[in-house]
Amino acid sequence: MKALIIEDSRTSAALFAQQLERMGIEALIAHNGKDGVELFQGHRPQLVLLDVIMPGIDGFEVAQQIRLIEKPGEWTPIIFLSARDKDADLERGIIAGGDDYLRKPVSEVVLAAKVRAMQRILGMRDSLVALTSRLDDMNRDLVRLSTVDALTGIANRRRFDDALYKEWRRAMRRQYPVTLLMCDIDFFKQYNDAHGHQAGDECIRNVARAIEETLKRPGDLVARYGGEEFAAILPDTGFDGAQMVAESVRSAVAELGIPHGRSSVASRVTLSVGAATMVPPRGAPASGEPLVEAADKALYAAKSAGRNRVVVSQG
Ligand code: GH3
Ligand code: MG
Ligand code: MG
Ligand code: MG
Repeated sequence: MKALIIEDSRTSAALFAQQLERMGIEALIAHNGKDGVELFQGHRPQLVLLDVIMPGIDGFEVAQQIRLIEKPGEWTPIIFLSARDKDADLERGIIAGGDDYLRKPVSEVVLAAKVRAMQRILGMRDSLVALTSRLDDMNRDLVRLSTVDALTGIANRRRFDDALYKEWRRAMRRQYPVTLLMCDIDFFKQYNDAHGHQAGDECIRNVARAIEETLKRPGDLVARYGGEEFAAILPDTGFDGAQMVAESVRSAVAELGIPHGRSSVASRVTLSVGAATMVPPRGAPASGEPLVEAADKALYAAKSAGRNRVVVSQG
């Protein structure tokens, strides 16, 4: 532990330093307030013993300056040492940012006890800070876990629902179109049957990545909607954009070239895409339900029309 003594009387300062050193505490000494503040800034001691009456800036002001130097959440115990013993002096010291106020002359026993008490509070504070930072980390993990799909690492259904709700309302307010893509891997049950569940999982991961890499606008969101289904929200995207993006998503998956032993449409894994574009009518339900329904219908149409294709509907 390192302590800073700010005391204009050289004799007193040397005495305090000796007493601290007997407690195993290294002591730095400043003989006026200005030097004290500088030493504090440069050395960041864990304890400050502060005289009140000094030429130049007095102890009360030094305490205030120290509190300003500390960053939010930092705390260095400050113990005032003064011959002034009025209640009002003690009160002023505490208000200025001091943590204790001792009357000079201070007995070595009292000083040691006070220093020990401060060390104890510092220790508790440190464990609180550590605990808080652990809690922050855990909270961040929880937020991530609650919004990210474990298999693919893309957004999960919950995050999708939130995002759609927000985007639908924003598009309604500003009257611009929003597009929803619903994507579903073709004959995936057969893929699992032919290649095994682990290969199936790997396939879902690769398809997720391919879709994600195809959607480049910062506002776009791709989510795993269900087992082998993916949904993408494309803000401010109209019919032509929807058609273009849906087709690039479809072809990106086909171009992965993942062999599929039992698909009736191709020798590799393919994707059907249903897209719906709407400018949300003013007064429509706040949820994006109509958009989901329309995209679902379009997906169903793509499946019925032979799969590995895109159907776009405009509402
Ligand atoms: P369609 O072309 O009509 O979409 O046929 P499909 O077989 O893909 O249709 P369906 O939606 O009925 O089947 C999806 C299958 O996807 C069901 C299940 O076996 C498989 N599946 C769903 N989730 C997972 C998963 O997380 N991992 C794996 N390996 N398979 C999954
Ligand atoms: Mg003095
Ligand atoms: Mg499906
Ligand atoms: Mg499917």
